[in-house]
Amino acid sequence: MGKKVVIIGGGAAGASAAARARRLDPEAEIIMLDKGLFISHAPCGIPYYVGGVVKEAQDLAIYTPEEFARERRILVKINAEAFDIDTKNQVVHVREGNDVVKYQWDVLIIATGAKPITLPVEGHDLNGILTLRLPHEAPRLREEVEKANTVAVVGGGYIGLEMAEALRNLGKKVLLFEMMPHVLPTTFDEDMAKLIHDELTKNGVELHLNEKVVGFKGVNGHVNKVITEKGEYEVDKVVMGVGVKPDVDLAVKAGAKLGETGAVWVNEYMETTKPNIWACGDAIGRHMFKHAANYELVRGCTLHWHHRLIKWVRWLAQMPLRVGFSSSLGF
Ligand SMILES: Cc1cc2nc3c(=O)[nH]c(=O)nc-3n(C[C@H](O)[C@H](O)[C@H](O)COP(=O)(O)OP(=O)(O)OC[C@H]3O[C@@H](n4cnc5c(N)ncnc54)[C@H](O)[C@@H]3O)c2cc1C
Repeated sequence: MGKKVVIIGGGAAGASAAARARRLDPEAEIIMLDKGLFISHAPCGIPYYVGGVVKEAQDLAIYTPEEFARERRILVKINAEAFDIDTKNQVVHVREGNDVVKYQWDVLIIATGAKPITLPVEGHDLNGILTLRLPHEAPRLREEVEKANTVAVVGGGYIGLEMAEALRNLGKKVLLFEMMPHVLPTTFDEDMAKLIHDELTKNGVELHLNEKVVGFKGVNGHVNKVITEKGEYEVDKVVMGVGVKPDVDLAVKAGAKLGETGAVWVNEYMETTKPNIWACGDAIGRHMFKHAANYELVRGCTLHWHHRLIKWVRWLAQMPLRVGFSSSLGF
């Protein structure tokens, strides 16, 4: 009987870990749990589904759970949310529909990803303020924005810009708010960003730079206004793109130490501070490259490949998600 390997999270990191574990140990009993409906998915494609470039939400996943399970002899559980970790007995507690199931592990891998940040301002929890996280939630997101005439996008980072483009594709009036003097402030200087500003304006995006969002107002619990330091704007929906933070809830429950960025602390072998528990992906955030001198190179490559992927998606619709992605991520 091989080792029991339990992986929490079936996104890019979790699915890569599962595939690697199978290659390393043909005898291992591998279980991959995901609270969502998709595995081996690409959240970076969500704006392109919303904007109609990617036709089916399922195309944001490389494998179906059944394919992944069959090809790698892995037990894949979707709609299975791990909610507690008992480190003494090496058991993870999982909600599967109305049932609570326990899985014993010899090796546990936490790959729970990252959660969108919400602004700590008045009205942040009103209905109609939308975030992007998991691909299976994309159809609901599209339904929501389709109902709107005017949509505010908060944040001029990659996700904000991609959503602004998607919303213009849907014919919506788009107001983009960025508190810094230019979009993509962590990537470009102002002169380069100016080219992007021109392109956004040319494509009908109303740009609000140097304009910090300080609250939201609503009617009957639904957002209808964005409040900034400079004014108030009537909107039907708001899309938030102000960043993500590592999802460390389970790791904290397991007693694993966090690093200075708030992500799960791991050593160069990606072991957490708890015995037999490893962590990977967005859950460990930038900490992953703490030991690597070439952090920026690694990150640059990832971004480069994602952007190439998006271009491929534009050209070839669904094919490259299955071909290009699976080889570059090592599933
Ligand atoms: C809209 C958007 C656009 C992006 N664009 C880019 C881009 O262009 N380039 C780029 O490099 N990166 C991009 N990213 C980031 C990229 O998607 C992530 O870096 C990557 O998905 C991280 O993989 P992961 O496996 O760590 O986490 P995720 O892909 O988030 O997977 C985590 C999985 O864990 C599951 N899970 C969480 N908690 C539990 C639990 N308690 N029990 C069971 N399952 C659980 C979730 O359902 C999820 O499937 C984008 C992200 C978003 C949201």
